[in-house]
Amino acid sequence: MAQEDSFLYALSSNNAWAGYKAHQNPNFFPKLASGQAPQILWLGCSDSRCPETTILGLQPGDVFVHRCIANIVSATDINTSAAIEFAVAHLRVAHVVLCGHSACGGALATVGRARLGGVLDTWLTPLRAIHAAHEEELAGIKDEGARAVRIAELNVEAGVAVLMANGVVQDAVRERGLEVHGCFFDLASGRIRDLGFGTKRGVRVAGGNGEEVRGRHAQLVFRGGNASMAVR
Ligand SMILES: [Zn+2]
Repeated sequence: MAQEDSFLYALSSNNAWAGYKAHQNPNFFPKLASGQAPQILWLGCSDSRCPETTILGLQPGDVFVHRCIANIVSATDINTSAAIEFAVAHLRVAHVVLCGHSACGGALATVGRARLGGVLDTWLTPLRAIHAAHEEELAGIKDEGARAVRIAELNVEAGVAVLMANGVVQDAVRERGLEVHGCFFDLASGRIRDLGFGTKRGVRVAGGNGEEVRGRHAQLVFRGGNASMAVR
């Protein structure tokens, strides 16, 4: 962002966006204002490069979100727990998606054994515990970026295990077939892959050529490295 004042730029960008959306679909904002019925709860990293609605090719209203540093899911974190409870028990989302990503600062700090100071080291403690539990495997990965990817994947696996042990989630899985997914976003390609954890182990969400991701409002089709979107 080359603007002198990035906040003023963001405000003017919002103004242009709101005008464009309203012009494109006059019902868009009145519909948004009337309430939300998202089908997906997204638990992801706070990283600026992982804006869930954008990378999913979806729209405001499609995804209920909780993001935190390194997408750590801790059973005793009331913030995460409240988001899960509201989305699952009240909004009755159909899917809970926990998504890690490549080049995650929290993962890189952990594999690099960096001390960040303050509350950050406390927050990243679960990642250091995962690092200690998988020390041998991680030590065998020489490239630091690849090592960070691996610990971020293990962190998603651990987070999905916490989600699957959450009482609100367990009730919804049993009573109405809520699905829990562990995914990974590759910054270098923009693709999200399903790591196969959660309620449907081994099911791939998206990634290669010719695969489709179905949203509520639009359908993204990937072919030959290009994506096109058709609004249904
Ligand atoms: Zn991150």
